[in-house]
Amino acid sequence: MIKTLSIVLVILGMLALISALKSSISLYRRDRRPSTFSFVPVMLGFVLGYMIYASFLALKSEIIIIEFIVSVVFFGGGIFCVMIFSVVSQSMERIAFAEFQQRHNEAHDPLTGLPNRRFLISTISQHIVDYNANLQRFAVFIIDINNFNNLNEVFSHQKGDVLLAQFSARLKEFVDEDVFLARCSGNRFTLLLTNPENTNISAYIENIQSYLDHPLTINDHDMNLTNTVGVALYPEHGSNAEEILKRAEISMYSAKRIQAPYAIYEPSASTHFYDQSELAAMLHNAIATMDFELYFQPVMNVHNPHQTTFEALIRWTLGDGYSVRPDDFIPIAEQTNAIKKISHWVLETTIAQLAVWQKQSITPQVQVNISVKDLEDENLEPYLAGLIKKYDINPAQLTLELTETSMMLNPAKARVVLDKIKKLGVYLSIDDFGTGFSSLSILSNMPIDEIKIDRSFVTDLLYSSNHEAIVRSTIYLAHSLDCRVVAEGVETEALGQYLMSIGCDKIQGYWYGRPMNLAQTDAWLNESLQISSKVANQN
Ligand code: C2E
Ligand code: CA
Ligand code: CA
Repeated sequence: MIKTLSIVLVILGMLALISALKSSISLYRRDRRPSTFSFVPVMLGFVLGYMIYASFLALKSEIIIIEFIVSVVFFGGGIFCVMIFSVVSQSMERIAFAEFQQRHNEAHDPLTGLPNRRFLISTISQHIVDYNANLQRFAVFIIDINNFNNLNEVFSHQKGDVLLAQFSARLKEFVDEDVFLARCSGNRFTLLLTNPENTNISAYIENIQSYLDHPLTINDHDMNLTNTVGVALYPEHGSNAEEILKRAEISMYSAKRIQAPYAIYEPSASTHFYDQSELAAMLHNAIATMDFELYFQPVMNVHNPHQTTFEALIRWTLGDGYSVRPDDFIPIAEQTNAIKKISHWVLETTIAQLAVWQKQSITPQVQVNISVKDLEDENLEPYLAGLIKKYDINPAQLTLELTETSMMLNPAKARVVLDKIKKLGVYLSIDDFGTGFSSLSILSNMPIDEIKIDRSFVTDLLYSSNHEAIVRSTIYLAHSLDCRVVAEGVETEALGQYLMSIGCDKIQGYWYGRPMNLAQTDAWLNESLQISSKVANQN
């Protein structure tokens, strides 16, 4: 009886050891570390020892008490090993998980869970190494959300993050599993597509953009985020990861420059590509000497074609004749206080020009763009009042254009500044209407005379029933608030005629006239003066 019990105890201990041995082998298979492997021979040795002891007991006719006690110890040892081993393997699993998480966090963006820039660079580099073996080309797409900084300022960064997470979720839904998707910086995503020769890149981008053209919700507002895409190909457009990414970025900026939804890299685009810090340094020097010029774009007054109106648009030309677009440098100037100096310069140059024209008995209206930062400038209103006095012009010839977003940042403060400016006798206009996130009740409280519908709604009006409805209702709304309506970006006669037929008060765009330098503007004014006097004579 004691003999059987002793043998059973040793066998049970041995089975426990075998199960611990199995776990140690599977742990080693996962872990592959020598320290984990060292368990295996030790445990095998133990199992062998148990087998020998069990056979020794089986061969004996009678068992003494000490041999029974040793069997109990063997049994306890087996159980002890199983317990120790389960603790060891649990803590090793925890360590492995923590290591995995750390590696994952280092390579992923916490907000969207997507691979970050570091992971992206290493993946592109890996693709480049693989290319040498498999000749598999790939394309890098940069998707940049337009105007995201404004949105962050209006809605706070926290809400901006919510939108980014929604945007990335939608992007994830769109891409196939084998497409590598990363968030490479704030509002910028990158997508890696292998074998681009099998894909129609333009159609692919159009599909992405139409998939993303879906309202996201924040604060119960439906919001349409637009984006611009830039593409560069390997091996055609660069030899390493940084170069390929930079070139995709250059093409994205080129697309923005011409307000195209996307662009594929063209080597000529990089001759004049300056990054933000280069532009900021160059702008600093340009501001010291006020190295700018004003262009004037004519705006057609539907109700009074003889009343000339211009929008003053700033131009900055570099030494080599390259003209930097205001869309590229105004945001940089806005990040520093430079914009205030620029706005003061634009105002003074415009008003001085109005005084020159006044001496020639020409009294056009001029619209001047004012930046969001100008609304924080306590000096703006006294400065403007001083200029009107100094040059002795009629303030009613001047309209200041402010974007919707700039008014919504701090509506109460904007209202105070605008009321003061309005008292000077100057008109006020809301620029780029429709692209911001304004609330109607706030707008109706602002001392506004005019609404300029952004060209993104105007350009495709004849083909988009959605945009047509937006433009029609904006005209209706503006008129009910006693505001005039300007349509921007009108490039064809058909579009101009249609806008007039639905009640637009002013038409601006290449159809009526492009921005002109001063000499061209003078010629334009002379010509329209001659036409007006001919009409007057005929009457
Ligand atoms: P914006 O105020 O919306 O000015 C109209 C822009 O549309 C101008 O671009 C003009 O050249 C362009 N444009 C006019 N008609 C058409 C058309 O039919 N088709 C197309 N595709 N474009 C047309 P620009 O001069 O490059 O100015 C871009 C933006 O830079 C302006 O947009 C404005 O926000 C800013 N900006 C320009 N000048 C100044 C300035 O003096 N001060 C400030 N703060 N911002 C300025
Ligand atoms: Ca404008
Ligand atoms: Ca505009």
